[in-house]
Amino acid sequence: MGMGLTETDYLVVGAGAAGMAFTDALIDHADVHVTLVDRRHTASGHWQDAYPFVQLHQASLFYGVASTVLGSGAVQQRGPEVGLQERAHQPEIQAYYDDILRRRFIGSGRVAFLGGCEFHADGSSHLVTSRVSGETMEINVRRRVVDATYVSPTIPATTPPPFGVAEDAWVVAVNELARLTETPTGFVIVGSGKTATDGIVWLLANGVAPDRIAWVRPREPWMLNRAMVQPDPVVALGLAADTMAAAADAESLDDLFLRLEAAGVMFRIDRDVVPTMAKTPTLGEWELDLLRTIDHVVRLGHIQHVTRREIVFDDGSLPLAPGTIVVHCAASGLQYPPLVPLWGPDAIRLQTIRAGFPCFNAALAGYVEATRDDDRERNRLCPPNTLPDTTASWARMQVRGTVAARSFGAEPDIAAWATGCALNPARVEPSQTDDPAVRAAAARLADGAERGLARLAELADEPLSRDA
Ligand SMILES: Cc1cc2nc3c(=O)[nH]c(=O)nc-3n(C[C@H](O)[C@H](O)[C@H](O)COP(=O)(O)OP(=O)(O)OC[C@H]3O[C@@H](n4cnc5c(N)ncnc54)[C@H](O)[C@@H]3O)c2cc1C
Repeated sequence: MGMGLTETDYLVVGAGAAGMAFTDALIDHADVHVTLVDRRHTASGHWQDAYPFVQLHQASLFYGVASTVLGSGAVQQRGPEVGLQERAHQPEIQAYYDDILRRRFIGSGRVAFLGGCEFHADGSSHLVTSRVSGETMEINVRRRVVDATYVSPTIPATTPPPFGVAEDAWVVAVNELARLTETPTGFVIVGSGKTATDGIVWLLANGVAPDRIAWVRPREPWMLNRAMVQPDPVVALGLAADTMAAAADAESLDDLFLRLEAAGVMFRIDRDVVPTMAKTPTLGEWELDLLRTIDHVVRLGHIQHVTRREIVFDDGSLPLAPGTIVVHCAASGLQYPPLVPLWGPDAIRLQTIRAGFPCFNAALAGYVEATRDDDRERNRLCPPNTLPDTTASWARMQVRGTVAARSFGAEPDIAAWATGCALNPARVEPSQTDDPAVRAAAARLADGAERGLARLAELADEPLSRDA
């Protein structure tokens, strides 16, 4: 196969939410050329392979790129989430990113997209090979390589089940629920995370009786109440204030989460078990009510293997009636590679900075790349954060995120940019600052912040210094 050569300022690997938000902010604030590469044929990353009934778990406004709002910012007018912000479905997310890619990026003449292409490095050469033609191209990068795949999530559709599957077993990825040609007699949902809860809610909404569903839940999850994660400064400041107040008096990590539950921030499904898992996806209260109708919860450890007749666990087995389908919702989702400086000698590795909100963080990194010229300064403003898995790493994420937000928020231009950015969950628009409810929430946060943060740092065993 031939080898072409092309030149660019930035080579961004990964056209998922992270690569798209970074590129968008970068080209808005610097006159540069970007080459964006993805092995998928278009933008939007994992959403291309997501189960078809997936929706954003949080408000559409918090998702996408900084220049262009996803959705209309409207509040839901009917259904079980009346009063909460709209959440886009998969087709809307895909169409949004496709439009950004074609019109705003490629249409500007400043972004080239190499879809269906695999990036690989060979020594100091940056190579891109088309999966379609087999051609390899060398990219001469004048400024930076940006790794927008470092914390890319794993999903069931593209990750095999983490257990053995006998040839005659009926095991499918969650996506297949929407394409059944044969009606199962029963459903076994495998996984404790957000995908499992989406699968169950969808089955119940389609008329499957709760007693036809068994739920394999090796760990119990804490989940975040969606009503507490809304683009409204009273809600956002209130959430931060509740978190700090709960932390200030918490005797342990479990006690912290139980206090957050009492404050209406965290949900758990089974009130008799204290969860250990804290990836904290957001969940509606109506979904929690539905999930609690599933009585058949299987807690026998992790699955070793599945046959047509049974599921064998670490601690026992579950017989399967004929016609029972086993639904794989057990990809780990969030990834936890080592935290490294975002601006490294060889590449920029996008990671979260403030707690959660991958799109805002990637846009922030793009803005800082465009407007600062020293990597030490960039890394000082944007230290890497972890994604949450356990209650300890959740607390660690809060500490690191709070410290980071103080650091980048102290820069007047970044603060002004963040105030104008809909992706920013903490923004207070100038017209809102004098609202008495906003002031009250801000005062409550200011009251509890120092004590809460210090206690969170102790609980997480995470020093409050920035270079930690
Ligand atoms: C079901 C689900 C729902 C979610 N909902 C929300 C939500 O509502 N709100 C929220 O904030 N977060 C949500 N998340 C969290 C998630 O982190 C973000 O959604 C975000 O999409 C992650 O984007 P990413 O760009 O990091 O990864 P990806 O979407 O995985 O994109 C990475 C891209 O890199 C490409 N790639 C990787 N390696 C190479 C290579 N060598 N060469 C070429 N291309 C390569 C991949 O093909 C992929 O397209 C959700 C996650 C899941 C799984």
